[in-house]
Amino acid sequence: MPEADDDRRCSNAVNEMILAHRIRLDPNNVQATYLARAAGTARFAYNWALAEWQRQFEACKADPALPQPNEATLRRQLNAVKRVQFPWMLEVTKNAPQMAIMQLGRAFQNFFEKRARYPRFRRKGADDRFTLTNDQFQVNGKRIRIPKLGWLRMRETLRFTGRIISAAVSRTAGYWYASITVDTQDAQLPPAENQGAVGVDFGVTHLATLSTGEKVANPRALRTLLDRLRRLSRNLSRKAKGSCNRKKAKFKLARLHASIANVRANGLHQFSASITQRFHTIGIEDLYVKGLLANRCLSRAIADMGFAELRRQLVYKAERRGGQVIFIDRWYPSSKTCSCCRHKLARLDLGIRQWTCPECGTLHDRDVNAAINLKKMAVSSTVSACGGEGSGPAREAQGETGSGEAGIQQRS
Ligand SMILES: [Zn+2]
Repeated sequence: MPEADDDRRCSNAVNEMILAHRIRLDPNNVQATYLARAAGTARFAYNWALAEWQRQFEACKADPALPQPNEATLRRQLNAVKRVQFPWMLEVTKNAPQMAIMQLGRAFQNFFEKRARYPRFRRKGADDRFTLTNDQFQVNGKRIRIPKLGWLRMRETLRFTGRIISAAVSRTAGYWYASITVDTQDAQLPPAENQGAVGVDFGVTHLATLSTGEKVANPRALRTLLDRLRRLSRNLSRKAKGSCNRKKAKFKLARLHASIANVRANGLHQFSASITQRFHTIGIEDLYVKGLLANRCLSRAIADMGFAELRRQLVYKAERRGGQVIFIDRWYPSSKTCSCCRHKLARLDLGIRQWTCPECGTLHDRDVNAAINLKKMAVSSTVSACGGEGSGPAREAQGETGSGEAGIQQRS
């Protein structure tokens, strides 16, 4: 579900940080009808322009004297005919058809540059959305003003301050959302409370374990929802195919999936916010692997939202406070190495939660030990990056880096 996250970062230029906050809308029936109509208009314009693009492209192949299709021309062509041919388009914001055609232009651009597949027609139900440019809407507290509709209630206030860029209004499982993008360039947050470092180990039983010994639990609401999910799925399989009841059960299930995704996203946001608020330097294992090899070792909350999403949140939130996230090579044996004496076990099965070091006799909690090792690696890498002399443990870890057992990538 690509749109489940709250704040998507779009740009990384200097002094520019574009973040999006996705807020649930509370339309009444009249307003919901308008939103559906605007989304329908956007979809129609997109599909009209795509068909027209294909037609003009074929014509241009037959007669090279004809111009190549492009989105600006298509927008002008639609504007020229819409009053007569599609007068119902005038009932919604003019942004709906215009932005849709601009998005088609971008889709073609991505296709030409081999970043995406050939654009496909938008489908009703799957692609219910439209976009507003910043001159076409206003945000005030828990309200958003949309042209030809008026004020609409939102469930939350906008989280970011800065220049508002655009809003994408979309429907997921029957709920409407506005994803508002903001350029927060001057909105740096205060630095972390604790200027020290922390190591974070992501595990199965907990969302995360910190080098301080704290264990962060998975979102509590999740278990209740997952139980309900199991019940509903069973329920659905009992309903006759093609029946009205099956349709109803399916819709309920889609809504539940949407709220589970929200609870997960919320859990990750709370976690990344609290960690970056508390610590300046954060050491985590670099689990971003294409094959998702590490997934079975991660809690469901992270596995389902994607580790890339958590990593993205940590990096930009740390950046906003002047902190840094240090990624430690995933082949570094953080679980198997004793954090007291650096003794390395030959193997440590996944099921073993505690172990005693044969060298120094320390009893380790598997996850806490791993988190401490990650913290040490993070500290030693910042020390070596600054060219300073490390403290005892950092030097030890440095020695290990030198021996080729671990590599460190630093990205902040
Ligand atoms: Zn030991």
